[in-house]
Amino acid sequence: LQGQSPVVEAMVDTSRVSGLDRITNDNDHIIIGCAVTHTQIVHEKSIIRHGTCLVESCGVIGGPQVRNVATLAGNVAHALPAGDGSIGLLALGGEIEVADASGSRWMALEDTFLGPGKSVIDHHRAMLTRLRFRPTEARAGSAFTRVMRPQGVALPMISMAARLQLDDSNTITAVRISLGPAGPVPYLAEPAMDVLMSGPASPEQFNKA
Ligand SMILES: Cc1cc2nc3c(=O)[nH]c(=O)nc-3n(C[C@H](O)[C@H](O)[C@H](O)COP(=O)(O)OP(=O)(O)OC[C@H]3O[C@@H](n4cnc5c(N)ncnc54)[C@H](O)[C@@H]3O)c2cc1C
Repeated sequence: LQGQSPVVEAMVDTSRVSGLDRITNDNDHIIIGCAVTHTQIVHEKSIIRHGTCLVESCGVIGGPQVRNVATLAGNVAHALPAGDGSIGLLALGGEIEVADASGSRWMALEDTFLGPGKSVIDHHRAMLTRLRFRPTEARAGSAFTRVMRPQGVALPMISMAARLQLDDSNTITAVRISLGPAGPVPYLAEPAMDVLMSGPASPEQFNKA
């Protein structure tokens, strides 16, 4: 449709497939259907509390008109290096469910980006049906921020998100930091994560990272 596929014989519109427009919970995950819009995510109490960086990242995408119709699934499936929702979900350790004629499987989000605009999801044969992440619990949290050029309408200079888990003595016991557009795909800043892991949650450590 964007000049890459000269013939389109069939399209799937997920927006009215029953059940795919819902945010649900199982025992371990918050699960987001592929037709859920950014606006739904931004107003969902469980994600505000247990997946804050996803709310913050979906909340800066476009304007209200875009957020009211655009989906997190579309942001992820498009695999753009500056995909804000993708960067938020990546920090949370998100996974996506990909379905095709042979069945469906969950994949770690970081394994799905192949290059700018290229995803493991075969757009001719497969669909991203759901996205999920483990909610942050006690002594854990996440946040997202984006640095824009002064005019504010171009691509961001950088978007980043982080998820941290602390123990009772404020030692970091789990950390994920995601970045984009700083390479061909949204990615985890592993050297910075290594600096923080098992150390104190202190301004000095954060500056070092
Ligand atoms: C004015 C404007 C401002 C924007 N600002 C931002 C921004 O600030 N940050 C940002 O990250 N993005 C931005 N975007 C890009 C875009 O709106 C978002 O990435 C949005 O989340 C895409 O979701 P969508 O549902 O509209 O997907 P679409 O645009 O409909 O789809 C994108 C691609 O993903 C595929 N796809 C969609 N859903 C699925 C699925 N379930 N399974 C398999 N493939 C699928 C489509 O076939 C297509 O190739 C902006 C767009 C506009 C028009």
